[in-house]
Amino acid sequence: MRYVSTRGTAPVLEFEEAVLAGLASDGGLYVPEEWPQLSAEQLRSMRGLSYAEIAFRVIQPFVDGAIEDSDLKSIIDESYADFTHAAVAPLQQLNSNLFLLELFHGPTLAFKDFALQVLGRLFDHILAKRGERITIVGATSGDTGSAAIEACRGREAIEIFILHPKGRVSDIQRCQMTTVSEPNVHNIAIEGTFDDCQDLVKEMFNDAAFRNEQNLSAVNSINWARIMAQVVYYVSSALSLGAPDRSVAYSVPTGNFGDIFAGYVAAKIGLPVERLIIGTNTNDILARFLETGEMEARDVVATLSPAMDIQISSNFERLLFDLYERDARIVSQAMTAFRQSGSMTASSEVLENARSMFSAERLDDDGIKRQIKETYEACGVIIDPHTATGLNAAKHCGVDQSVPVVSLATAHPAKFPDAVEAAINVRPPLPLALADLLERPERLETLPNDLNKVQAYVREQASQS
Ligand SMILES: *Cc1c(COP(=O)(O)O)cnc(C)c1O
Repeated sequence: MRYVSTRGTAPVLEFEEAVLAGLASDGGLYVPEEWPQLSAEQLRSMRGLSYAEIAFRVIQPFVDGAIEDSDLKSIIDESYADFTHAAVAPLQQLNSNLFLLELFHGPTLAFKDFALQVLGRLFDHILAKRGERITIVGATSGDTGSAAIEACRGREAIEIFILHPKGRVSDIQRCQMTTVSEPNVHNIAIEGTFDDCQDLVKEMFNDAAFRNEQNLSAVNSINWARIMAQVVYYVSSALSLGAPDRSVAYSVPTGNFGDIFAGYVAAKIGLPVERLIIGTNTNDILARFLETGEMEARDVVATLSPAMDIQISSNFERLLFDLYERDARIVSQAMTAFRQSGSMTASSEVLENARSMFSAERLDDDGIKRQIKETYEACGVIIDPHTATGLNAAKHCGVDQSVPVVSLATAHPAKFPDAVEAAINVRPPLPLALADLLERPERLETLPNDLNKVQAYVREQASQS
């Protein structure tokens, strides 16, 4: 399988190169040259398999022999071996046609572990084969960073730098990153927003000299392998609910559009997906886009669901590429316009296409608290504030009652104890393994929102390893 950039001028790459590259050299994102297909028969034959077995069958066509099947199997098996629930991604029924997909049983208690546990091992495997080292730089609004650090800590061939917006991640999120003691892990608190952090990372990648000198790589959801690994739980949950002989709708708390784009990919490779429902918080650029066809960035507002406090959803570019029938020139122009003016308008065909698959619902902080309370009172289930945006969107999605709706529970409620406590007066405890997290010593560097200063810091630290 070969991978092409959404902007059309970066080299076409094989799987391993696309994984190592992360962002394409023309500023675009890599996507498979074509969507592999799983037939209804193939899907039926996966029913009853373990999560890791389903993962292998879903991921293998994207890797397509670039990694030996036996090696790929081990990578996948090891990735999910330490999840604390035997089902890895269990479904919990909330009412007759509404299901919660629990994606928080990994080491950092959020869904990002599903992809990053695989990605860390993929990097290790590919780099060992080539005798290379890389420097990973990533931006996090909270959960990516800890999941990436957890996946890369102590790995020989990797130096990892994670930028987070200072004071805008929860104590637990910060401590999950800054209390990791391995010397290949570097945390940088940026005096700015998540979008500032993400821009700094993009600028480091766009600086060709720096990028080559440091052998830069990305773990943000711009890395194709992350999307690929996230397709799996759409398939596994749908199989449990009767797919491929029944279609399923998904409601997804959305920020960078990586998770829900994986749902789109699941549909593209043959899973019957009825609808993809975007849950947003007050940062509702995607909901406004579906209403008007205009993508217009506004200032980021801090909310109770910080991992979704994003105005520029990077992975949306992958969807645009597909919706514009893979015309990289149009995508390139649109993204340039968006960069320059903070706004772009989709053609009416593209908007119509997007609406045929996606709908969106926004929820403010009061709504988040109401939803947490409602779910607790109706089912005795404690959900986190991100999950609340998805559940609320699921409620309003308007799909036929005969269609099961799977609402993605993207984080464990104990990661956001203040918001949960404000809603239901119950403080969800951390799982035992993390009980002393906030008392562990922290290690981090605070830097201004200044590309030169950040690059200098990365150079200095990487040179000492
Ligand atoms: C990252 C994250 C999201 C948003 O996912 P995207 O792939 O960025 O859309 C939602 N909820 C939680 C808990 C997250 O960590």
